[in-house]
Amino acid sequence: MKILCVLYDNPKKGMPKKYPLSKLPVIKKYPDGQTLPTPKGRDFKPGTLLGCVSGELGLRKFLQKNGHKLVVTSDKDGKGCRADKELKDADIVISQPFWPYYLTREKMESAPNLKYAITAGIGSDHVDLQAAMDHNIDVYEVTYCNSRSVAEHIVMMIISLVRDYHNQHAIVNRGGWNIADAVHRSYDVEGMHIGTVAAGRIGLDALRKMKPFGVHLHYFDKHRLPKSVEKELNLKFHSSVESLVKVCDVVTINCPLHPETENLFDKKMISKMKKGAYIVNTARGKICNKQAIAAALKSGQLSGYAGDVWFPQPAPNDHIWRKMPHHGMTPHTSGTSLSAQTRYADGVREILECIFSRKQVRKEYTIVRNGELAGTGKHSYTKGNATGGSKEAARYKKR
Ligand code: NDP
Repeated sequence: MKILCVLYDNPKKGMPKKYPLSKLPVIKKYPDGQTLPTPKGRDFKPGTLLGCVSGELGLRKFLQKNGHKLVVTSDKDGKGCRADKELKDADIVISQPFWPYYLTREKMESAPNLKYAITAGIGSDHVDLQAAMDHNIDVYEVTYCNSRSVAEHIVMMIISLVRDYHNQHAIVNRGGWNIADAVHRSYDVEGMHIGTVAAGRIGLDALRKMKPFGVHLHYFDKHRLPKSVEKELNLKFHSSVESLVKVCDVVTINCPLHPETENLFDKKMISKMKKGAYIVNTARGKICNKQAIAAALKSGQLSGYAGDVWFPQPAPNDHIWRKMPHHGMTPHTSGTSLSAQTRYADGVREILECIFSRKQVRKEYTIVRNGELAGTGKHSYTKGNATGGSKEAARYKKR
């Protein structure tokens, strides 16, 4: 088989010769008991860069030994890009949400052999899922591989926004020491109302991690959590997003992007939020209307916005979120720490091993199978396509 793997660029100065830590902490299982990926083999050193082109997700040796052809590229956007050329006779495409290869209907139709689309991470909205169903292309992702990594990022972003860390750090870097400038927007999180839109693997973990800060916790989800969890966290359920945003000082967004959630935080929804609230969105950029977010930060309706997800990705250099006030954005990194890379590289290998040996891929990794949403996909996604507008990614110019 031919496997096309679209990964992010190598570090500008080349692959690291050494890393800060020589070993990763050992994690035996996820909180709900799901096991970590269990591939039969591993050809990389855990804790090294695997998600970039030279890292190759540690797959080359395994694939070549089994007679498959691996092509790895980061050139994924714009007319004539290498990924589009290589896709034409590929059987499997692997891509990552951090550097998504937008697999539109048009691209699928240019690839008659394509049978599988694998997401090295979580969130397969960069694949036109409706077209995948129509063309019988199975879609898999490595459920849970980086959910806890993202939850850590959310906590970091909530605290850094509310305390106004970015401003304080910038003052130090400029050589300054004006304390009043540093604290005039800085609050304690303690006592605040924190709510998540979706309490899945990430949302629930973020709530659990925030609990020790002495905050009031809220959530909205399509399915209600068990009563025991609500009790454990003293967690208030809201039957609508509107009801949640009305009372929360901080709203964190943790649902997948699909037609139901695209543009959920538009001007109208933001106007229903508590004045001066903060949003942390590590789910997907398209869930928030980019103009409405920037306008709300300017007017003071929002006090801060942070996240690591943009649309499209890479974000064009003039994307309005790069320059809006009071933001704490990062590039899409929360789910690709060195720790997470090890798990999703293992997960991709497990999925490939299953495909090659005609064994069913775990249902928790399954999004689309045999032309239908299935497994996790059936539970968390709705039919449709969220890749519209992705051509804009070609406007990004490397710096
Ligand atoms: P889960 O599948 O565990 O959780 C998703 C949750 O969203 C489920 O509880 C689901 O509800 C809920 N949901 C679905 N649709 C809606 C809706 N319309 N309104 C409210 N809730 C909804 O996934 P994770 O928590 O692991 O990941 C969530 C998302 O986070 C991913 O889809 C991805 O987009 C993003 N992500 C981002 C990463 C990053 O690096 N920034 C990395 C990993 C994920 P139910 O199951 O009850 O139907």
